[in-house]
Amino acid sequence: MREVRWERMFPDELEQAFAACPVVYFAYGLCEPHGPQNTLGLDSLKAHAIACAAARAHGGIVAPPDYWHIHELGGYAVWAERAVGQVPRSWLTAVPPWVHFKNVCYHVRAADALGFHAAILITGHYGPNWRDLKTLLDLIQPHVGTRLYGLPDFEANVPGFDGDGASGGDHAGRVETSLLWALHPECVDRSRVPASDGGAPHFAMGSNVREASRRIGERMVADEVRWLGAKARELLDAYERTRPRHQLLTFEDVEVLWETVVRPRLKEFESMQDLWPNQQPVPEGSVWHRNWRVPNRG
Ligand SMILES: [Zn+2]
Repeated sequence: MREVRWERMFPDELEQAFAACPVVYFAYGLCEPHGPQNTLGLDSLKAHAIACAAARAHGGIVAPPDYWHIHELGGYAVWAERAVGQVPRSWLTAVPPWVHFKNVCYHVRAADALGFHAAILITGHYGPNWRDLKTLLDLIQPHVGTRLYGLPDFEANVPGFDGDGASGGDHAGRVETSLLWALHPECVDRSRVPASDGGAPHFAMGSNVREASRRIGERMVADEVRWLGAKARELLDAYERTRPRHQLLTFEDVEVLWETVVRPRLKEFESMQDLWPNQQPVPEGSVWHRNWRVPNRG
């Protein structure tokens, strides 16, 4: 199988892959409760493996995955209170939004400085962070030559000609478990699914997990790969048409962009809200109370 993972490629292979198709994929996720049947890193494992499959099929290079993502605060804490509950250890690899999104800016800087024509940023972790990712990329695109597109992987999970019309995204249920099963079979263990839903939440397991299937997962991966290939082509064409200047080149460029363009808008990001629509505050005695309130970083 052709190697597309940046960290596992020799310099001559990277140069060849870049010359053939100057597209870079970034994959985001974290270690987070995904039921007793999935390994913790599902979100990143999934996004990275889909990006690798897309690059193998359509060209491009896949950057090292980022296993640290937004959790433990605001609406994420409220979600965890319900879906994870009072566990002694959540095994999360969480960072706050201002850390995650500044890292994304540095990743985009690397892409622009290297001269990539297009970058596709895929988050396998949801909540509203993916809408903030789109907001962030809209804010910084005018200052970046590389053509950018950010998405949650489920946006690409649209059935093709053989689809069942019911893909989309979920949390550790039919969709995510099927995808991980197809991509990394050693990271899914159906024998760990509890016999009944009594005593839920079961470490944030999706209640329809018993409908998961490796073959459905394989079909979903194929759908996402096809979608991503078309998106990469679209971005490359946009670059060819406009020939933008690569301009986010230095660390100082990133810091100035962050201070002048991103930080003034940060408090509007959905990940920066204490509560999402229809949520209630985290009770004081909960293990999720500690980081719930979002500090003002605007
Ligand atoms: Zn997930």
